[in-house]
Amino acid sequence: MNTLIFEKSFNRHTEYLNPTLIKYNLGFHYEVLENKENGLLQPFFFKLCDELKKDNLDFAITHDDTVNAGVLYRENLVFITFGMFDSLCKLAELICCSGVLGNEKSEKRYENLNFIGNPFTGFKKTKPVFDCETTSKLLLVIFDCLLVFVIGHEKGHIDNAHGNIGQSKITEDITNTITGNLSVISQHAKELVADLSGFNHAKYRLNYSISKNKHTSPEVSKLLNNIDSDTLVLFILTCFFKMMDNIYGVSPDMTTRSHPYASFRAHTLLAMKFNYKNLESGGFDSLNAILTMVDEVFEYSSARHDSEWLKKSTTKEMSEWYSMIYGEIPKWRVT
Ligand SMILES: [Zn+2]
Repeated sequence: MNTLIFEKSFNRHTEYLNPTLIKYNLGFHYEVLENKENGLLQPFFFKLCDELKKDNLDFAITHDDTVNAGVLYRENLVFITFGMFDSLCKLAELICCSGVLGNEKSEKRYENLNFIGNPFTGFKKTKPVFDCETTSKLLLVIFDCLLVFVIGHEKGHIDNAHGNIGQSKITEDITNTITGNLSVISQHAKELVADLSGFNHAKYRLNYSISKNKHTSPEVSKLLNNIDSDTLVLFILTCFFKMMDNIYGVSPDMTTRSHPYASFRAHTLLAMKFNYKNLESGGFDSLNAILTMVDEVFEYSSARHDSEWLKKSTTKEMSEWYSMIYGEIPKWRVT
């Protein structure tokens, strides 16, 4: 597609979606074509538009610096903020810089994953992020996995018909405060079901990337084949959950949160994945291995780091909270 056709198609896209975005106070569509610094933006934006179109869904990146994503059920629209896109780029870079996946360690460029004044740059035609080609290719695989999880989480809300129940709630955000008439327990159950859907999408994509890279970049496939794919996806997603906790803070009162703690989301994914009935019945060894890797990533960044964060998901109160949510999950899971 030449530049002019790109422009025309993008302008049509924004003219069509902007009235809806404005109606829901989501901010204008982001000027994807004008950002020349983040080389991941254009290819991944158009790729996601094409992928979501197959499910009759529109896709938008909103002009919003906060780290957020959501779905407008009645409009068949999945959106992420530019803040989310930028943070995912930086998180993928941090994971790569840390060398935790066995690749070459590199110097980090971002102290704060959510500092929009210092946006992610790189992957322009002339300037890759890393000198090492394998690490650059690894970044693409990890970023793709993170993005597919965020979109897959939102699709999970649609596929599990979360918009059909509690119609007063039109939008669903990844970080919103409690609104509407759903109980907090229902809200958390919905989020955990959507997480599982996102996990499945991310795992499918990661396995596809690994098999594709067997030919295009055998070094990347070799690195990623060292870890089993469930562990690898949970590691990448737990980094995401931890980043979200770092950005939005952690309130000790679960009833005021629309989403559970990062470590709790990671723990529950593992529990649902392996059909544990409660947090105590298994999975600690796998979880600890994953969390050690996540800690290494965040220790590499000098951002606020709380190495005790796993304990938040294993207290008596949290186990009781989880038991209540676990009983609610079947109501919100149709897929
Ligand atoms: Zn959600």
